[in-house]
Amino acid sequence: MKRFFAKLVPEVLILGAAALLVLHPALRGTANGLDRVFPFAVVAAGLLLGWRFNRSRLVFAIALLALTEYILVQPIETPYDRVLFHAMTFLLPVNLALVALLPERGTLTPAGLLRWVMLAAQVLLVLFIAKSFPDKALDFLGAHVLPRRLTSWTPLRQPAVICFVAIGVLLCLAWWREPQSPVRGYSYALIAVFAALSWPAAGPGQEIWLATAGLILVVAVIEASYMMAYRDGLTELPSRRALNEALPRLSGQFTVAMVDVDHFKRFNDTYGHDAGDHVLRLVAARLAQTSGGGTAYRYGGEEFALVYPGKGQDECVPHLEELRETVETSRFTMRRRFRPRLKPRTDKSRKSRQAIMITVSIGVAERNHRNASPEQVVQAADKALYRAKEAGRNRVST
Ligand code: GH3
Ligand code: MG
Ligand code: MG
Repeated sequence: MKRFFAKLVPEVLILGAAALLVLHPALRGTANGLDRVFPFAVVAAGLLLGWRFNRSRLVFAIALLALTEYILVQPIETPYDRVLFHAMTFLLPVNLALVALLPERGTLTPAGLLRWVMLAAQVLLVLFIAKSFPDKALDFLGAHVLPRRLTSWTPLRQPAVICFVAIGVLLCLAWWREPQSPVRGYSYALIAVFAALSWPAAGPGQEIWLATAGLILVVAVIEASYMMAYRDGLTELPSRRALNEALPRLSGQFTVAMVDVDHFKRFNDTYGHDAGDHVLRLVAARLAQTSGGGTAYRYGGEEFALVYPGKGQDECVPHLEELRETVETSRFTMRRRFRPRLKPRTDKSRKSRQAIMITVSIGVAERNHRNASPEQVVQAADKALYRAKEAGRNRVST
């Protein structure tokens, strides 16, 4: 459930706010011409972030939205104008998807310049077609392949609507395959862009929807940067930086457990670094699901920290014992590509996959009169971890 809501925030809030602004002009009136300032603020923020954080895709997306706005404010009177409008509604989702799915390659690098050239070529091609054979182009762009009433509520023609839906499905699939990828922002931005193009009248409504698409992409870059700082890229657990900020916020009783994988250097030497990374991810997943209300952090290397707010160590030890046992009894299966370089001791029950035993040692400490500050509690847990190692590993020490 929590994961489901995590997929909605903050983009759904932004889309909701945009809908409110568009549908209730009074809200905009009291905000001093917000609709005039908003698009410029988004363009400025997008270009600034794109430049400072080297996010060429954001720069391209903002350029696409600005070009769209430029086309939208032109009156549509002649067949030439109509070709421009409908070609843009057809090509915009395709270009947004390309921006979302192509790798980051810089804005003014050779690869980046090639992308600008491709965009300019599209514009020139559309202008040429609009001038030379507008009627044929309109036959194609305005073709009816579905019953008319299905799309009668939008000024977009059916090829454009179909293109939007297909691109939407494609982006959602890409997002589902790689939940942490920037595709997420583009999936939501596509909704705002569709709303902008479908908006019945030119003017503030369209501008606010377009700027909202840009805002969603800007927020996505900020969120991604936050994630990079506070999430560990390998295990997806909160990072040590997150722990350092969480500890001083704790008040009253709490317990810290330091968890360290046993003989991990040996494991790496035997199976290779990639297999080691794979195991770290699996151990991290066990830690993240641990009972007792503890939050898991990657402390560094093959060490993790668990923080139990409001709990004393006696309350936590049974949960930690359970965790230790879960790791010990989990059979970490190695895929073929992680086959050992040396011959290790293994469970021979399966042929194609190898099951390997991993154990962890855990040191626990609580806040008390001796260890009053969070740093002292962490140090005490570290000392307890050392005792667990000395006593033979695969155990919990207090
Ligand atoms: P002990 O039981 O005493 O903890 O022994 P150990 O071998 O686990 O301890 P040590 O601290 O000597 O070695 C830790 C090893 O963890 C060294 C390093 O190669 C490995 N390691 C640290 N971070 C990573 C990582 O991100 N990926 C992989 N694959 N290995 C890592
Ligand atoms: Mg270790
Ligand atoms: Mg260690």
